[in-house]
Amino acid sequence: MRVPPGVSEKDFVDALKQFEAAIGKEWVFSSEEDTDLYRDAYSPFWNEPEDPVPSAAVAPDGVEQIQKIFKIANTYKIPLWTISTGRNLAYGGSAPLLSGSVVLDLKRMNRILEVNEQNAYALVEPGVSYFDLYKYIQEKGLKVWIDPPDPGWGSPVGNSLERGGGRTPMRDHFGAQCGMEVVLANGDIVRTGMGALPGAKTWQQYRYGFGPYVDGMFSQSNFGVVTKMGIWLMPEPEAYREGIVQVQKHDDLIPFVEILSYLMNSGISQGTMLLESPLLDYRASQGGGVLDAPGGPSVAEMEKLARDKNLAYWSATLHFYGPAKVVDSQWEYTQEKFSAIPGVQFKDGRAYRFPVELKEGEEAPRVALGIPNLSIFGLIQSTHGHMDFSPIIPMTGEAVFESLKVFGEAYAELGVPPKNQFFALPWSFFPRSFVLIFGFPIEHDIEKNRKTREVFKRLVQVAAEHGWGEYRTHTAFMKTVSDVYSFNNHALRRFHETLKDAIDPNGILSPGKSGIWPKRMREAQG
Ligand code: ADP
Repeated sequence: MRVPPGVSEKDFVDALKQFEAAIGKEWVFSSEEDTDLYRDAYSPFWNEPEDPVPSAAVAPDGVEQIQKIFKIANTYKIPLWTISTGRNLAYGGSAPLLSGSVVLDLKRMNRILEVNEQNAYALVEPGVSYFDLYKYIQEKGLKVWIDPPDPGWGSPVGNSLERGGGRTPMRDHFGAQCGMEVVLANGDIVRTGMGALPGAKTWQQYRYGFGPYVDGMFSQSNFGVVTKMGIWLMPEPEAYREGIVQVQKHDDLIPFVEILSYLMNSGISQGTMLLESPLLDYRASQGGGVLDAPGGPSVAEMEKLARDKNLAYWSATLHFYGPAKVVDSQWEYTQEKFSAIPGVQFKDGRAYRFPVELKEGEEAPRVALGIPNLSIFGLIQSTHGHMDFSPIIPMTGEAVFESLKVFGEAYAELGVPPKNQFFALPWSFFPRSFVLIFGFPIEHDIEKNRKTREVFKRLVQVAAEHGWGEYRTHTAFMKTVSDVYSFNNHALRRFHETLKDAIDPNGILSPGKSGIWPKRMREAQG
């Protein structure tokens, strides 16, 4: 039988019996057949002893059952690992960071408590998926949009807590969070923001309530279990349109991103933009890669290739949402601004008026239109999954150049073939910054995975040396990433640990999450 670290088999058997008495035998899973379902399908430790396995899983139906589970876990010092729908693939899936933890699976808590059309918000439980919420809104004919991630499975609660991103103007998922209910390790139920006021009328409308604003403490954290969360939705716009902007020269990227930042930071263009390069894509198709590796072609050679092949150096699709006449003017204004760059070219992209009826299989930017789907899986060509190295860099052309060079050099030094990743150009998932998402394939090959893990760790260091840090990471690298957030001799980590020790003294909640270990395990982790 698998047991949590430091827990005797006898105690664990007793604890499982108590879990069963508390929440019902059918909701406590301890056979290997059942618990294996919670392993990370994209584990970078495939077939290695370090691959974390849960010892059991428990699926409570509400806060009272969570409180009972916490009481038992505190008695036996059993580590729990919380998941909402457990679809956090590429970042650990539903598997715990600490092998032997008991997965606290909140899938049964799947009530949509409110969707408010006038003020565009929802209040949901953790087991509500993006598909559930979308379906509910469609069935009721409400004129609000959700903002699903790519891919659209998973839950608004889990994804927002991980600070995931989507594609519509509400793309910063934690930024769209408003008010939560949290169960603390001692069983106390806290409502944040206006929710602290009994009978509050604005829990999902006004974020801050009174006093210190604590919601952020529960994101990417192990300080509590979120059982309800408010999320802001987007009123259904009248229209959506895309405008494609392309520039020809390498250095055009500097004014290109300058104008782009102005347009995005002013709310003129909204949603997520991906910087593209038809020229670098062409070079990658010839085996050259997108990164700027040492010994690669010079700028003049690349610009000549661009002319010969008639390819733009840089390109982006900008998104506009709003009243039809407003989006038309925004696109017109966008073209006016970009006209400052000699040789710039514009193309109209796709355009929709809402409500729209998309046919099944019809090509459309579904995620940008708030429609959850799984088509991203068709785009990512990796057999056994992938994991993502995702640093945040400034939203400037200079930073893009620097990152292509720095990571190009790192790839060369580490001997990684330029093709051994996807997506090296920035996305604007979060306001005022870019995120690079380097996907590394997971293989059913221990040696290759070991090498990839080493490369990953090195890239975290290289990024940190340039002032760039990851926005989120796989459980396997949470310590590595938190190690580089080290200002003032790890003052932030020390603060996190002080909080952890105060609110979860037995260290039952998600040990190791984001590099935060409870006191009793800290030494063993070095
Ligand atoms: P999704 O539902 O989007 O698939 P997951 O359930 O995989 O997301 O959750 C992603 C991560 O977020 C988990 O590994 C966990 O650390 C954290 N998390 C998820 N749900 C909760 C919750 N209700 N309370 C606290 N942390 C959570």
